[in-house]
Amino acid sequence: MARLIALIFIGEVNFQVLSYLAENLPRFFPGILVRVESPIPVPPRCWVPSRKQFDGNCILESLPTLKGTKVLGIIDEDLFVRGLNFIFGLASYDKTLIALARLRNEFYGLPPNQSLFLERALKEAIHELGHSYGLSHCPDPRCVMHFSNSLAETDLKGPDFCKRCKGILLRNLTLDT
Ligand SMILES: [Zn+2]
Ligand SMILES: [Zn+2]
Repeated sequence: MARLIALIFIGEVNFQVLSYLAENLPRFFPGILVRVESPIPVPPRCWVPSRKQFDGNCILESLPTLKGTKVLGIIDEDLFVRGLNFIFGLASYDKTLIALARLRNEFYGLPPNQSLFLERALKEAIHELGHSYGLSHCPDPRCVMHFSNSLAETDLKGPDFCKRCKGILLRNLTLDT
């Protein structure tokens, strides 16, 4: 499995989020190095005017493929995929993506809470990277791999993998593919 996670901002960089993720992700993926790559511009072709949102799959595909690396794209926009009104994130085998817009209290007319916002971004990043390392959704609502369709669910779960998911993750991390 890829020994490297590359963080790539799409569009304007939020340095606070970037450094928070770079600092905290290694704790959850033992033996994996986290590297920060240069940002890339938001691809205008991924904007869907009728929905006033970006197409998540289009953004995911626009991320570069880096050999032996799981790419985590971070974008401060609102994304959707076909069949869903919005998504917090998206994952394929070697590319993952998180969308920050809906992780802020302000999006819902609530007072800002910066530490909560950073925590949510970290949980979503761990969740999507977990998928790319072979984990599926977990029935345990406290496990980071639990599917969250609302911020209440995101806030309920911890940043940690449950025992079962952690076991699968550690096994996958030791595979040499
Ligand atoms: Zn998921
Ligand atoms: Zn789990």
